[in-house]
Amino acid sequence: MIKKWNFNTTKFGCTRNFIQVIFLITVIVIGYKFYNFTAQLEIGVIPEIDRPPGVEGFLPISALISLKYFFQTRIINDVHPSGLLIFLFISVLSLLIKKSFCSYVCPIGFLSEILVKIHLKIFKRGLRVNKFIDYPLRLIKYGLLIFFIYSIFFKMNKFVIKQFLYSSYNILADIKMLIFFSDITMTATITIFSLIILSVFIRNFWCRYLCPYGAFLGLLSFLSPFKVRRNEKVCTSCGRCDTVCPSSIKVSKTRNVLSDECFACGKCVDTCPEKGALDLSSPSKKFSLKPVMACFVVVFIFSGGAFLARKTGNWQNGISKTDYLNYMVENDLINIPKIQDLNKFIGHLDNRRKRILMQQMMDKR
Ligand code: SF4
Ligand code: SF4
Repeated sequence: MIKKWNFNTTKFGCTRNFIQVIFLITVIVIGYKFYNFTAQLEIGVIPEIDRPPGVEGFLPISALISLKYFFQTRIINDVHPSGLLIFLFISVLSLLIKKSFCSYVCPIGFLSEILVKIHLKIFKRGLRVNKFIDYPLRLIKYGLLIFFIYSIFFKMNKFVIKQFLYSSYNILADIKMLIFFSDITMTATITIFSLIILSVFIRNFWCRYLCPYGAFLGLLSFLSPFKVRRNEKVCTSCGRCDTVCPSSIKVSKTRNVLSDECFACGKCVDTCPEKGALDLSSPSKKFSLKPVMACFVVVFIFSGGAFLARKTGNWQNGISKTDYLNYMVENDLINIPKIQDLNKFIGHLDNRRKRILMQQMMDKR
C-alpha cells in the first residue's frame, strides 16, 4: 500500500525533514554548478557560468581566518566573503535555537539522521556508548576546535592572516576540495566508508566525536534561550524521549536539556505521549517554539542573510574568471592533454603563468 505523505505541521519531524530536503537540493544545485565551473577552468576555458558563492559554506577554517581578519580590519575579505557570512548565519542560529543548523541545514547531519534510523531498526532501543568511553571520545572534537582557534587567533598575526587569505591556496581551497572528492583516493574512500559503518553502530559518530564545527556550535548553544524543557508534573517517566534522542540525551531525567549535543531536532517532543510534558521553549516556558516557527527562523536567517549580503555586495567574491585561470596554472590544476584551445587559453595568462604553463607542458611530455 502506498503511504500518503502526511505534512503534519504540529510535528517537528515533518516540517524539519521538508526543510532538510530543500537545503539538500540547494547544496546539490550549488555542487553541480560549481562542478561545471571547475570543469571548464580545468580545460583552460573561461567558464560561461558564475561560480556559486554558497560553496564557501564548506570552508569553515577559511571562514574562521576571515573572522579574525574582520576583527582586525573591519573588512569582509573579497576572496571568500560568503564563507564568513554563512559562518555568521550558522552562529546566530546556534545562539537562538541550539544546534539546529545540524538538524535542519547540514547535509552531513541529514545523512547521520538516516544512519540513526537504520541503527534504530537494528537495535530497537538504541545502543548507548559507555560513558567512560563516550566522554573521552567527545573531547576529540573539542581538541580539534582548540587547535584551530589557538592556531588562528593566537599564532597568526595580521600580516600572516592577510597573506593566507589572498594566497592562491586559499583562493582555490573550494576547487581543491571538489577535486579531492571527484578524484577521491582509496584511503579517503575507505575512511568515509568506515565512518558510515561506525555511524550505523554508534549514533551520530561523526557529529558526536569528530566534527569541530559541531563542537563550536555546541558551545554557542549553551547561550540559546530556546531549549527542550520538561514539565515534571505532566511527565510519566515512560522514557520514550530517551529512546528516540539521536544524541542519547536522557531527556526524562532532566528539566531543561542544556547538553551541547542537543540538535533541537524535536524528536523527543514529537514522540512524547503526554501533552505539555515536553516543548522547545524559552526560559520559564514563556514562549514555546512551534515546528513551523522553528523552520521559519532557520529559512529566514539563511535566505534573508544571503539576500542582504547580495544587496551589499558581500556575496560574490572579487576574483575574476581570468584570475581563476591564472591561479589554476600556478597550482598545476590544468588538465593539459584536454586543453581546448591552447592559443586562446594562453591569451588569458600573464607572463609568469605562461612560463609556468610551458614548464608544466614540457614536464608532462
Ligand atoms: S516521553 Fe514525555 S512522558 Fe515520557 S519520559 Fe519523556 S517527557 Fe516524560
Ligand atoms: S534532546 Fe530532543 S531535541 Fe535535543 S537532540 Fe535529543 S531528541 Fe533532539
